Amino acid sequence: MEKEVLIYNTYSDYLREKYGEKVYKLPINLPVTCPNRDGKLGEGGCIFCAEVGTGFENLPNHYSISKQLEENMILVKRKYKANKFIAYFQNFTNTYLPLEDFKVYIQEALVEDIVEIAISTRPDCITEDYLAFLKEIQLKYSVEISIELGLQTVNYHTLKKINRGHSLAEFIDAVLQIKKYEFEICTHLILNLPWDNEEDVIENAKILSALKVQQVKLHALYIVKDTVMGEMYEKGELQLISAEEYKDRVITFLEYLDPSIVVQRLIGRAPEENSLFVNWNMSWWKIRDEIHEKMRASNNYQGKKAYYLGGKALHCSRNV
Ligand code: SF4
Repeated sequence: MEKEVLIYNTYSDYLREKYGEKVYKLPINLPVTCPNRDGKLGEGGCIFCAEVGTGFENLPNHYSISKQLEENMILVKRKYKANKFIAYFQNFTNTYLPLEDFKVYIQEALVEDIVEIAISTRPDCITEDYLAFLKEIQLKYSVEISIELGLQTVNYHTLKKINRGHSLAEFIDAVLQIKKYEFEICTHLILNLPWDNEEDVIENAKILSALKVQQVKLHALYIVKDTVMGEMYEKGELQLISAEEYKDRVITFLEYLDPSIVVQRLIGRAPEENSLFVNWNMSWWKIRDEIHEKMRASNNYQGKKAYYLGGKALHCSRNV
């Protein structure tokens, strides 16, 4: 079979190369909330955030970690014939748990066939004591650690509009702290926030490239009922771009993204239930496939325009 030409650095290839075989993420849902929801930083959270957070496919959070891992492992083993897994602490802000509770949960996830622990959190919920504990775990159990940071956009005006409760500075600070511990960082972005334009998309790619984060996960906005954004949508106050424009934004983003950064996703999956707007009523994989086709047709690839770092003025001619 002819090998597909690489148009971007895919997560599945990266995992296969790193671990020598297929590896799948198993979501873990903890009884945790978020400082942007419980009043510490803000109430109600980001204006798009639903009561259930982001882990709509997760098992209930009263299940023990071993039960969640075991049930998901059985499903994934059967469906994808995988034997190695990443324990993915996905929902809400996992490092918002008290440190002692966090330690217990992480240790519970160190079961057979888990090769990596991935922890999802906010940039303003990273501190040295959590990172030092994770380093200890990494060294003691030879398990990889990665941190997934929700950022959504580098446009700090938009961050304010979506009520993130942090700006770009906290993200940069978190990246610099995590880098001291040499854990991989994945950044989550939404490429079609209503207040962002193409320049923001490019700046997203440039900032992640300049900070040398290792991975990125792209999402299209999905709008859930009974959220602030849901109300804005119903009142006709939001201007959303078309699916075609989203595809173009993803391609632009990839063109400016350092080619070594691993791309976990080009678009997220989202539940249709309770939603007002999800992926233009198209399946996520159809949009993903159309992005691939468009990139191939226009000879686009990740990093095509990533020549702006390392002293651009000295190494680029004016017409580049
Ligand atoms: S940071 Fe995450 S969990 Fe917290 S309110 Fe925003 S989207 Fe929800």
